[in-house]
Amino acid sequence: MKSYIKEFLEVEKPKDYYGSLVAEIEEKNREQHFITTLNSNIASEDKGRLPFTVKANICVKGFETTAGSKMLKGYLPPFDATVVERMRSSGNFSFLGETNMDEFGFGTFGLNTEIPARNAFNSNYVAGGSSAGAAVATAMLKYHIAIAESTGGSISTPAALNGVVGFTPTYGTVSRYGLIDYANSLDKIGVIARSAADARIGFDAIKGRDAYDTTCSIEKIGNSGKKKLFIIKELMDKAEKPVSSSFEKLLDRLGERYEIEEIESGIIEKAIAPYYIIAMAEASTNLAKYNGYKYGMQYGETNKRYNNFFTEARGDFGSEAKRRIILGTFIRSESVRDRYYAKATQVRSMVIKEMQKILKEGFIISPALPIFTPKIEDAVKLTPTQNYAMDVFTVPPNFGGFPHITFPYDYYDGMPLGAQLVTEHANDYALFDFVSGWEESFDYRFKYNLGEL
Ligand code: GLN
Repeated sequence: MKSYIKEFLEVEKPKDYYGSLVAEIEEKNREQHFITTLNSNIASEDKGRLPFTVKANICVKGFETTAGSKMLKGYLPPFDATVVERMRSSGNFSFLGETNMDEFGFGTFGLNTEIPARNAFNSNYVAGGSSAGAAVATAMLKYHIAIAESTGGSISTPAALNGVVGFTPTYGTVSRYGLIDYANSLDKIGVIARSAADARIGFDAIKGRDAYDTTCSIEKIGNSGKKKLFIIKELMDKAEKPVSSSFEKLLDRLGERYEIEEIESGIIEKAIAPYYIIAMAEASTNLAKYNGYKYGMQYGETNKRYNNFFTEARGDFGSEAKRRIILGTFIRSESVRDRYYAKATQVRSMVIKEMQKILKEGFIISPALPIFTPKIEDAVKLTPTQNYAMDVFTVPPNFGGFPHITFPYDYYDGMPLGAQLVTEHANDYALFDFVSGWEESFDYRFKYNLGEL
């Protein structure tokens, strides 16, 4: 099994390895914008450890943590998130920096922030989101691991678009203490790495109970390998060429080893609307605290009229955040909440039940995205609902808290394509084994196009 982490920890590092790494990142960052906060002290702190980054919505003591938002500019957390504390105390990892993202996690392409990250393979293309910088950093830096976060696809999407492995664990296996919330019932901290073995090492370092997060309660993680792969017809119908045709080729190769069955399911493809209803409702609640008094940027005089002060402070949110605050607040309002929020939770239960039934028998496999990587200039023209529709494959497993992994499987026009594999709750280890098997048995060319910084 290929592990860049083990390779790194075993070899002698050249003198001033970390110093030149920081200098090279600074240089690359001028074009790619993947790092938002760089720990330029890593050289003095390091004891031969592997550099790790965290998505900018994960608190690191004393380092600017903005969650991609102007609202949190200059915020220096007074504590480390549990995942950061665990990475550091494992003795194998040193903090390198924070990675660029869509504001508060709102987005699919990484464009909803002041200076978006750019795809590692070609900077005219989107990096994917919302953990854009985490995936770009993983594709550019040979020895590094990224701690990222997904609410509805934010690990799978950028990992797929940058040709790296993106792992989202079962909801409740990794502590969210110190995460700047998007939607609490959906947020999961996970890992982006260069191989499945490395994603597993990262997961093992951060998982486990935490007294600071009572939702993090799953301790036992299994590995029941299945021999069956399910394709959901209604989802596959959404995939455009060349995605569907190269995915067919992947299935041909996997067919040598797995039984593949196409099934129909009317409910899974319907997950997007109720996902966005619930995600926006929760997001609008979470963002209410940023009003310029206790949380969020404060502007000068506070003795203005109440409404003026708030309006000015909250004017700092980007347009997607504003859209979600308005829609989320509407969804929660008394007159409509039964019609939208209550119904969405019912559909959520139906999706979970249906997926549980399927996942008992085998994995669900699909492309990570229905379209080929868009150019930035084209992606900015998409309407909000067109954007949301891009999450058709990634939302169902996230909605149900099912563990899933994205891995690169092909190229098209010089850009990588990623597939997504989903398994049952608390069966996360089966995903690493599946992808390691793929990495070993097929000519795994993708990594040769990755950076070697
Ligand atoms: N694109 C989805 C959204 O905007 C998912 C993003 C995420 O996982 N943070 O909600």
